[in-house]
Amino acid sequence: MYIFSQTNFGGKKALVRVDFNVPLDENFTITDDTRMRAALPTIEKILSDGGSVILMSHLGRPKDGPTNKYSLKHLVSHLQKLVGPDYPVLFADDCIGESAIKASNDLKPGEILLLENLRFYKEEEKGDMSFAEKLHQLGDIYVNDAFGTAHRAHASTAIIADFFESDKKMFGLLMEGEVSSAEKVLLKSDKPFTAIIGGAKVSDKILIIENLLNKATDIIIGGGMAYTFWKAQGKIIGNSLCEEDRLPLAAELLEKAKAKGVNIHLPMDSTIADKFSNDATTTNCESYGIPSGWMGLDIGEKARADFRKVILSSKTILWNGPMGVFEMEKFQAGTKAIAEAVAEATQKGAFSLVGGGDSVAAVNQFGFTDKVSYVSTGGGAMLEFFEGKVLPGIAAIKN
Ligand code: AMP
Repeated sequence: MYIFSQTNFGGKKALVRVDFNVPLDENFTITDDTRMRAALPTIEKILSDGGSVILMSHLGRPKDGPTNKYSLKHLVSHLQKLVGPDYPVLFADDCIGESAIKASNDLKPGEILLLENLRFYKEEEKGDMSFAEKLHQLGDIYVNDAFGTAHRAHASTAIIADFFESDKKMFGLLMEGEVSSAEKVLLKSDKPFTAIIGGAKVSDKILIIENLLNKATDIIIGGGMAYTFWKAQGKIIGNSLCEEDRLPLAAELLEKAKAKGVNIHLPMDSTIADKFSNDATTTNCESYGIPSGWMGLDIGEKARADFRKVILSSKTILWNGPMGVFEMEKFQAGTKAIAEAVAEATQKGAFSLVGGGDSVAAVNQFGFTDKVSYVSTGGGAMLEFFEGKVLPGIAAIKN
């Protein structure tokens, strides 16, 4: 596999798949540019080598071809601001065809060409070979820096790689960071390895838990999903979140963990509330004896202390999903305590990876982003990686 940082892009046109699927308001102002900023190191390395960059991305879910709403032209001025005045940003109003080819041919070293939304063509998501072939004509080297779409076998994320020789396709710096941290946790973890799984639904996390049973030494289960595990053991959970149809499966996962010698840690106590609201009356009680009319909306103080102990004795930590309804101030303490413990363990030398939408949001909200080893930007892709699936975007480059 060719390594991006060891490649000299001088005089080359690099065709870079980025994930610029950013949220825009009704005036087309970008409300969160994290994904654009995440691709900057890759873009800047190519430009400073004396190469030029052709960026391709999707934006939103356009249904019937080109629409102003989903045009990537709305990103040009912001991208220009991010890269600075030394690197001109140009725009091609199509991602394939004559205009794109001409724009690519005219591109000079130090210039960036942003192509129009790939998903204006249905062929992109279908992984169409001839569409991928047309895209490939635009650059000399293919760089995939879109970890967020690595779990899709789309034309620009996977199929296109077949049209480049093995020394002309590689991961960008963002993708390289994501893949190496995910592999460090899943394939090369130092033990003890603790996985912290939270969030609302057991059903979303079954495959991850199953796969982690073969990898982790300890699994902490918090958030709304913990109550399904308590109920599966015949306990009373009041009006807490419960997926009745997953009770047998939760029981089965607990059995499997026992058989494999994996320690499952459930929250022994909870902050309970009389309604799903920040104005609720709250108190603390054992998670396995919640009175009717009350629901567990956060892990309790004992659980925080128990989980902290496990986290602090870990050498590898994976965290996906909040411990409670952290969006409401009254139910933040559990998630915050876990963030603190993960940060502390990291400072002591553990490798910690936070991945998946809401735990990433929580870590950002509580100011712990720089205190963990790696925060993944690829929600769905990271989850599929931890489910043990082969991600087409990774396989296309590696194989
Ligand atoms: P997920 O997308 O599955 O990671 O779930 C994240 C959501 O789970 C967040 O919006 C949390 O508010 C919610 N959540 C966490 N703990 C609980 C709980 N005890 N009861 C209900 N919802 C919860």
